Amino acid sequence: MIKLENIHKSYHTGSNSLHVLKGISAEIHKGEMISIMGSSGSGKSTLLNILGILDAYDSGNYLLNDIPVKKMSEKKAAWFRNNYIGFVFQSFNLISYKNALENVALPLYYQNVSRKKRNQIALEYLDKVGLREWAHHLPSELSGGQKQRVAIARSIISNPKVIFADEPTGALDSVTSMEVMSILKDINKEGITIVIVTHENDIAEMTDRIIRLKDGLIIHE
Ligand code: ADP
Ligand code: MG
Repeated sequence: MIKLENIHKSYHTGSNSLHVLKGISAEIHKGEMISIMGSSGSGKSTLLNILGILDAYDSGNYLLNDIPVKKMSEKKAAWFRNNYIGFVFQSFNLISYKNALENVALPLYYQNVSRKKRNQIALEYLDKVGLREWAHHLPSELSGGQKQRVAIARSIISNPKVIFADEPTGALDSVTSMEVMSILKDINKEGITIVIVTHENDIAEMTDRIIRLKDGLIIHE
């Protein structure tokens, strides 16, 4: 489902350039739950943003569902972002003035689903993550773990094939982290491919396979 061949990426700021990814090649198969590990600054988020078509790469090939991402039109890329890919962030990225239900329903708003229908579907997804009773609470009234469960419900409401999660447990205590991981595992069992960036060993060990990044390359032990 995902194939990376010799991906390079540099950042340029002023006269400085930083070569972050120095030839990443990897394959991720449909139905896998994998983690990407590496120290801070090793390029994990850069790689995940490229995988999620949120950022461009300089050279190499990225095939998503056999389609070369480099040649994708902006329209096609937007289609993939809206229908094929879900994203989960460390800082949840919920809209503070919208309640849990409205946050979960948001992707359906952009798909022009009627308010009644999208709220009905959003409630089912909140139920899936154990938060039906919290539908009308604002993010500020939820714990970190609950906020991340709302964000996960939002990421799966449009039936994506793959979820990219950037340190989804990075802001959570260890008990809550395990709860969030168990929800991600359940989602994976339903057939959604999951890629988790983490620097925590116990989180990575809950996945099927670990990709380790160091100095811009994947380490193969
Ligand atoms: P990680 O997620 O593994 O901590 P990142 O992918 O966020 O690492 O960053 C890798 C390196 O690239 C870091 O040195 C970071 O400072 C730098 N970097 C990340 N994003 C940008 C950017 N938009 N512009 C310039 N440098 C960046
Ligand atoms: Mg990062």
